[in-house]
Amino acid sequence: MKKHVRYSIVIPVYNEEAVIHETYRRLKSVMNSTKEAYELLFVNDGSRDQTAAILKGYSDGDDSVKLIDFSRNFGHQIAITAGMDYARGEAIVVIDADLQDPPELILEMIEKWKEGYDVVYAKRVQRKGETFFKKQTASLFYRILRASTDVDIPVDTGDFRLIDRRVCEEMKGIQEKNRFVRGLVSWVGFKQTAVEYVRDERLAGETKYPLKKMLKLSLDGLTTFSYKPLKLATYTGSLLSLAGFIYMFIVLYQKLFTDSTVEGWASLIVIQLFFSGIVLILLGIVGEYIGRIYDETKNRPLYIVRECYGMERKERQVVS
Ligand code: UDP
Ligand code: MG
Repeated sequence: MKKHVRYSIVIPVYNEEAVIHETYRRLKSVMNSTKEAYELLFVNDGSRDQTAAILKGYSDGDDSVKLIDFSRNFGHQIAITAGMDYARGEAIVVIDADLQDPPELILEMIEKWKEGYDVVYAKRVQRKGETFFKKQTASLFYRILRASTDVDIPVDTGDFRLIDRRVCEEMKGIQEKNRFVRGLVSWVGFKQTAVEYVRDERLAGETKYPLKKMLKLSLDGLTTFSYKPLKLATYTGSLLSLAGFIYMFIVLYQKLFTDSTVEGWASLIVIQLFFSGIVLILLGIVGEYIGRIYDETKNRPLYIVRECYGMERKERQVVS
C-alpha cells in the first residue's frame, strides 16, 4: 500500500542546476523538522541542463523525492498545475526552486493550516535583488489586476503558498489553458490568510522569467479574470468622438468667422497617427481575448509527461 503523505511540496524547475542542490538540502532540513511524512515533488519543465539528471539521482536514493519530467518546456504555471495533479498530501505547498521563497516559511504556513485555514499565501513585504523595473511593473500589475476584477486576488503575492487538499481537488476541476494559478486559487475561495515575508535574492543562476514571459503571465491574469480591458474600447471611443465633435465646432468657427488660414497637414497627420494607434491597440486587446478563446477550444492536453520517477505516471485524462 502507498505510504500516507501529509505534505506535498511542489517545486517547478527550469534550468536550475546551479541552485537545485541547495534547494533540496534546505527543503529536506525544513521538512524533516516537521516529523511528519512528506514528498518533494519536482516538476522538470523541459530543462536543457543537468537539472533532470540531478533530480533523478535524488529520487533513486531518497523515497520522498518524486519527479515529473515534462516532454518540453510548458511554462511555470502549467508545471505547478501538474504538481497539484500528482500531489498526494493533505496539504500542498508550491515553492520556487531558486530559494527566493525561504523554505523555512513553510513551517509558519503549516501552523496557520493547522489553525484551520485552507489557503495560506505568502505576501512579499519587500523584494531583494530584483531590478527597479521588475519591482515597479510587478507592483503596478497587481494593483491594476485587483482594480479590474471582482475576485479577491491579494497584491504582491506570487505562487508561494500552502493549499489544503480540498482546494487542490477544486483546482483540478479547472480546465483553463492559459492559467493564472494564483488568481484561480483566490477564485476557488475557502478560508484564506497570509503570512508575510521578505523575498530574498535568487541564490544562483538567472531569472527564467524574461520580459516576454512576464508579459504573457500578466496578460493571462488580466484577460482570464476581467473583461474590463474590452470596455476600454467603448470608453476611449466615446471620449474621442466627443473630442472630435468639439473640435468640429472650433474648425467651423474658424472657417466662418476668422481669417486664419487652415494649415492642414501637421494637425491632420497627428490626428491620423493618433487615431490609428488607438484603433490598433484596441484591436490588439480584442485579439488577446480571441487568441485565448481559440486556445480553450483546441482541447489539447495541458502538458505531456515524458516519465515519472519515484511514482507512477498517470494515464492522461480524456477531456470530453
Ligand atoms: N520556471 C519553470 N518554467 C519556466 C520558467 C520558470 O518551471 O518556463 C520555474 C523556475 O525554475 C523557478 C520558478 O519557476 O522555480 C520561478 O522562476 P524564476 O525564479 O526564474 O522567476 P522570478 O523569480 O525571476 O520571477
Ligand atoms: Mg525567482
